[in-house]
Amino acid sequence: RPGSGQDCLRQRFLGKQIMSRRPLRIGLSARIYHPVVGATGLQSKSLQYLEQSVAHWVMSREVMVFMIPAVSGDAMVHRSSIRLSDYPEYLDGLILQGGADISPQSYGEEPSQPDWAGDRVRDAYEMELLHEFMEAGKAVLGICRGAQLINVALGGTLYQDIATQIEAADEHVHSDYDQHSHAVQWAAKSGLAKLYPGKTGGQVVSIHHQAIRALGRDLMVEARSTGDGLIEAIRLQGRPYVLGLQWHPEFHPPGSEELLDCTPILDEFLAA
Ligand code: MN
Repeated sequence: RPGSGQDCLRQRFLGKQIMSRRPLRIGLSARIYHPVVGATGLQSKSLQYLEQSVAHWVMSREVMVFMIPAVSGDAMVHRSSIRLSDYPEYLDGLILQGGADISPQSYGEEPSQPDWAGDRVRDAYEMELLHEFMEAGKAVLGICRGAQLINVALGGTLYQDIATQIEAADEHVHSDYDQHSHAVQWAAKSGLAKLYPGKTGGQVVSIHHQAIRALGRDLMVEARSTGDGLIEAIRLQGRPYVLGLQWHPEFHPPGSEELLDCTPILDEFLAA
C-alpha cells in the first residue's frame, strides 16, 4: 500500500541505509615542494603531493581520499570562486599530514638557525583548512607536523629543536627514518587511555625534531614520550573531534607485535 505510514518508514530506512553505505570522503592536506632556484624541469615547479603511506593507511577502511591543493601565490591559472572554505561542505573530515617544519614565525619566534625556518606558506594554508573544517564541525586528525600545526593554530608554541633545547631528551628523529621508534604512555583519563583498555601506551614511529611546548587553547595532553615526557598526542576538549599524533600511525604495519596498532584511532576519527 504505497503512501501508508509503514511504507514511509521503509523508504526512510532504505534511504538511511544507502546514506550509510556511502564511503566517507576524507580530505588530505598537501605536502608542498617549493621550486629550487636555478633548477630545471619538474624541480623548477611548485609541486603539491601526498605521501602514499598516509593515503593507504586511511584507505584501509571504506574511505575515499582527496588531496586538497593549496592556493599558491604563483599560480598562473585564473581560479574560479571556489575557496578552501568550500571543501568542508563536501568532505567528511580532514587529515593534516606530516612533512616540513612549522615556521617559528607562525608562533611568534624567529628561527634560531636558517635550517629551522620551516614552511610558512604551508602553515598558512593548513591553518585555514583546519579553521574551516573546525568551523563546519568536521573531524580533524593531525599527524606529526599536523599535530604541531593544530597546537600552533590554537595559540600554542613549539620547541624549534628538541636536541638543543631540551636537556636529556630522547632521540625523536634518527637516520633510520621510519625504522626509529620509542615508547609513549597515555595521560591519565585521556581519550586514548579509554580507547585502549588494559594498555598504558605503546611503541610508536618517531620522526620529528620539533615538539609541542606550550599547549594551545582548549587542548589537552593525551600521551607523552615515556623517557623524557615530551608531549606526543593532543586532543581538543569538546567539539568537533580534533586529535593530533606526534608519531606516524601510517608506518605501523597492521598486526605488528612491536608497534602500537593504530586502527582504533583511525576508526575513532572516522566514526566522528
Ligand atoms: Mn617522538
